[in-house]
Order: sequence, then structure tokens, then C-alpha cells
Amino acid sequence: MLDFILSDGRHLLSHLGMSGGYRISETKVTEKHTHIQFKGTHEGQEVFIAYVDPRRFGHMYLYNQEDAQKKLNELGIDLKSPDFTYDYFKKSLLKYPHRLLKVTLMDQSLFAGTGNYICSEICARGFVLPGRLVSSLKEREIKKLYTAIFTVIDGATETGGTTFAGGYADTTGSKGGGVQHLVVFYQKICQQCNKTEVVKTTLAQRGTYHCPKCQK
Ligand SMILES: [Zn+2]
Repeated sequence: MLDFILSDGRHLLSHLGMSGGYRISETKVTEKHTHIQFKGTHEGQEVFIAYVDPRRFGHMYLYNQEDAQKKLNELGIDLKSPDFTYDYFKKSLLKYPHRLLKVTLMDQSLFAGTGNYICSEICARGFVLPGRLVSSLKEREIKKLYTAIFTVIDGATETGGTTFAGGYADTTGSKGGGVQHLVVFYQKICQQCNKTEVVKTTLAQRGTYHCPKCQK
């Protein structure tokens, strides 16, 4: 969740969804799928900040200071925060033992910053099926999932985000190179065993990908 503090003190909270992103430009952004554009100045220069989102899963909220804080407090710990420890991860997972793993991973009140593709990738790299009941997970599987989160998140950020099907781009509009790190999401063949066909299902109302051989 991005938090823009406006000059009148209000907060614009912006959740990028699956394919949303910002472009920063000295000229007006005319890219397709630009939904909203802000004009400001930076060191005397006009600057445009545009929100571009081909698939429109992003959300924006305009709040006063107090309500913005409330909204931010509803979010779980960000996956990139130092407070996102193994204990926190395990405790949060086990909070709803009868949920499916993917449903809980997608829960922003527990884990801020997860998205649909990230959840498929975490399950794949943790070698666990996304449709497993949380209560059936063994300690070693929870540990693998925790480690997998960092592999997925770091892979996606170091290479400038992940792109697929007209999705992600960085603030200059360049497509990220992170796509090469995907092992199941939008893949035909599992990139971990390099031979099994990836299976697509719908979980938590979203396209979910897994390898029937690597994941148990
Ligand atoms: Zn596989």
C-alpha cells in the first residue's frame, strides 16, 4: 500500500492490485490504461505522476489523517518488513486452521504486500499445494513456505518487478525482467522440475497455478 500525503494533510492510499503501477514523467502521460494523473512540481519543473493499471484490480482511498491511520492499521505486516518474522508468519497462518493455504496467504489483514501471482509462486517454491488446508501443514512445510516468500519477493524486486500478460512496469514504463523467475504462474511447464505441465485452478476467486509433481 502506497501512502501519498497531500499538501492539505489528507492521505491518498493506493493499492496496486495485480498490474497497477505509477509512471513519473516530465510530460503528461498518454499511455493506455492511465486512469488518474497528478500534476505537481519538483525543483521548479512540472512533473506528472500517473496511475496505470491494465487489469484494474487496484484500489485508491482518500482519507483524512485519522481514517488513513485506521485503514493502515487493518493491514498485516508487510512481507518486506523486518517485523515479518517466522513466528509472525506461523502464528498468522494458524490463526485460521480451516482455511485453504492460498486464501490465507492472500489475506491482507495478515500479510500486506502479497498478490495473486506471488501466492502461486510462494506455494510452488515451498513445494506445497495452494489448496491445502492450513491445519494439515507440517512445521517443515511452514518453514519452506517462509523461506520461499523471500525468494519470490527478492527475485521480483531485484529484477525490477514482474511482468506478465500486459502487467507490471516500473515508474518509467519499462517492463520488469522478473518474469524469468516465475516457476508456475502463467507457465506451461513447471520451471522447477522442467517437465511437468502446470495445472491452473481457481482459488480465492483467482487463477492459481501449481505443479502436481513438485507440490504436495
Ligand atoms: Zn514441477
